[in-house]
Amino acid sequence: MDIKQLYREIVNEHNLNPEHKGKMEDPTIVLRGVNPSCGDDITLSLKVSDKGIIEDAMFEGSGCAISQASVDIMAGQIVGMTKEEALKMASTFMGMIKGEVTDEEEIESLDEAAALRDVAHMPARVKCAVLGWHTMEKMLNGDND
Ligand code: ZN
Repeated sequence: MDIKQLYREIVNEHNLNPEHKGKMEDPTIVLRGVNPSCGDDITLSLKVSDKGIIEDAMFEGSGCAISQASVDIMAGQIVGMTKEEALKMASTFMGMIKGEVTDEEEIESLDEAAALRDVAHMPARVKCAVLGWHTMEKMLNGDND
């Protein structure tokens, strides 16, 4: 299996069988993120401890395969991270999607989220791929409107 095929498999799997889709009991922060150009509409819930550790992340809503897979991968990866770690990861991810981060080691640090790197070559899909990450960034920065 070549790497592009592997990436497609990862995106498909998260789209069809999301691990973090559903309603959260007592979230700390909830924020809706919408990408009108595609119709992606998600609501992200985070549970953040007093020490700033992300203890859980869940999303609800609907959208295209790229937006759904991206938010599901993101939710899985930020659980257990500090706010700072999650924000750093969001910035690396968005840099990769915009084609600004090309360093292999940096991209590998994204783990499964690296599967979305080909979106960098599809300008129309960039907003789909970054929707969940951008929403998470706003939540952790306390920019909830
Ligand atoms: Zn989309």
